[in-house]
Amino acid sequence: MARVMLSSEEVGPGVLPPCCLVCGAKAEGAARASMRSVPVWCYFLLFLGFLPFAIAYVLSRQEITVSAPVCSRHRSHFLWRQWLLPAGILAALLTLVSPVVIQPDARPFPPTWALIGTVALLAGTVTAVIWLRQTGVRVASMSRDAVELDGVSPDFVSALELGRADYKRRMQEWLERHDRAPSSR
Ligand SMILES: [Zn+2]
Repeated sequence: MARVMLSSEEVGPGVLPPCCLVCGAKAEGAARASMRSVPVWCYFLLFLGFLPFAIAYVLSRQEITVSAPVCSRHRSHFLWRQWLLPAGILAALLTLVSPVVIQPDARPFPPTWALIGTVALLAGTVTAVIWLRQTGVRVASMSRDAVELDGVSPDFVSALELGRADYKRRMQEWLERHDRAPSSR
């Protein structure tokens, strides 16, 4: 797998080569991928409560939307990675409040099973999110006008470099033509 730096101009719709970002096969379309960069320590704040986590998450995250070319097999590659964290937190919160409906007269309240279930779901979600950060296409670094992706197909990088070289060559040709025939205005 390879790394690639994409500028904010390149991540827009229809700019990247029609080559799957994940596996290098011919892309069938593009997936809107919200690439987020959040420091790992942020996820551990979940164990202190949802509010400290939410504040740190909002303050520390950077985000860039990539119109990612994908084959039919990798159409959902980014989707479930994006939704895993909110889905895990929602499931944990539902588990915590579910005794209100299922076992309203439990003593102590909330019952132990609800507390254990909530912590297990949060731990599972944090583990899965951290594991996903090490696999598949993920953010290596991010600035205001560029994103570096890791886990990208080497074939995609080759196709991108071919397109960049071609663009440079055509711009050079255009400049040379322009220099020879200056506008009459
Ligand atoms: Zn693919």
